[in-house]
Amino acid sequence: MKYVDEFRQRDLALKLAEGIRTAAKPDRIYRLMEFCGGHTHAIFRYGVPDLMPDNVRFVHGPGCPVCVLPIGRIDMAVEIAQRHGAILCSYGDMMRVPGGNRISLQRARADGADIRMVHSTQEALKIAQENPTRDVVMFAIGFETTTPPTAVAIKQADAMGLKNFSAFCNHVLTPAAIQAILDAPDIEQDAVAIDGFLGPAHVSSVIGSQPYVALTEKYRRPVVIAGFEPLDVMQSALMLIEQLNAGRFTVENQYTRVVTPEGNRKAQALVAEVMEMRGEFEWRGLGVIPNSALKIRERYAAFDAERRFDLTPSTAQDIKGCACPEILRGRKRPTDCKLFGTVCTPENPMGSCMVSSEGACAAYWSYGRHRSGSSQTTQESAA
Ligand code: SF4
Repeated sequence: MKYVDEFRQRDLALKLAEGIRTAAKPDRIYRLMEFCGGHTHAIFRYGVPDLMPDNVRFVHGPGCPVCVLPIGRIDMAVEIAQRHGAILCSYGDMMRVPGGNRISLQRARADGADIRMVHSTQEALKIAQENPTRDVVMFAIGFETTTPPTAVAIKQADAMGLKNFSAFCNHVLTPAAIQAILDAPDIEQDAVAIDGFLGPAHVSSVIGSQPYVALTEKYRRPVVIAGFEPLDVMQSALMLIEQLNAGRFTVENQYTRVVTPEGNRKAQALVAEVMEMRGEFEWRGLGVIPNSALKIRERYAAFDAERRFDLTPSTAQDIKGCACPEILRGRKRPTDCKLFGTVCTPENPMGSCMVSSEGACAAYWSYGRHRSGSSQTTQESAA
């Protein structure tokens, strides 16, 4: 099968591992943050850390769209369905994430709210067409990858004159999150050290590799856009190590079979037509970040659930003891959380990182890293 099997070949992985061992200087540590949850899962699913020398370490980043959504936004989605009686359409991963008072979308549905799991915004549009007397709201979440389908749905609803469809827009922007992580050492004592980034794969297919250039220049950290297969990740790690050894801090693109410098211009134009920058947005784990999310433009205000409904801002906090915020900043590993595998399991998740298919806690649990006995924190690793 093209583009899968050849990126999982054992002999090539062993060769790459040898190349990394040779390239990594023994007198320094290489802390490489994989931004995407998809990378985290590839790394653990294929045992990539076991092929790395001790001084090459992966730091898990905030690139899981479900994980970074703060509890308050989940509460607002529940309110749309419960208090305003709308049909709320959500992607599956969001359904089980606990909100305030541990009320998830799934729990609200069990309590009688009309919340439906959809696989696409097109399904939500269809539900709106089939239920003309009900408000139908798409709980739109995700990074730049899932934003174009939301923009398309809004344009279609506008063209169809569909009055009962709207989107609760929670789309967030990757470069702003990377910048927030890199700014953190100046403002937070407990920020984690990062030497380079494995750049997002799917996101970069939309925005291209260009948007990271300014970050590499300003913060002097290399970025290598990496595919999601194990050999992609390993080759990207080697490219980062080589840049760091040479004192270079540029954007390189390992995922050339998908990502171009300019990205998908058509998708970018579509999003720009329907959405604009929000002044600021709260992220779970990263706090409030300026210019880090999108909102629906005035031209399409009729399709903006935040304008259509009078929503109550929620101040609910993360569940006590849940380390999701620290994990999303790369400050802790899932095994550092006291609740991991005891109170919190995939069957009974306490936080978003255990629920989401891209969450770091779910990756540790699914691929048995919790059995390795390591409780070393990222800070200890970096020492
Ligand atoms: S193990 Fe559970 S409680 Fe702990 S950080 Fe992960 S999701 Fe939160």
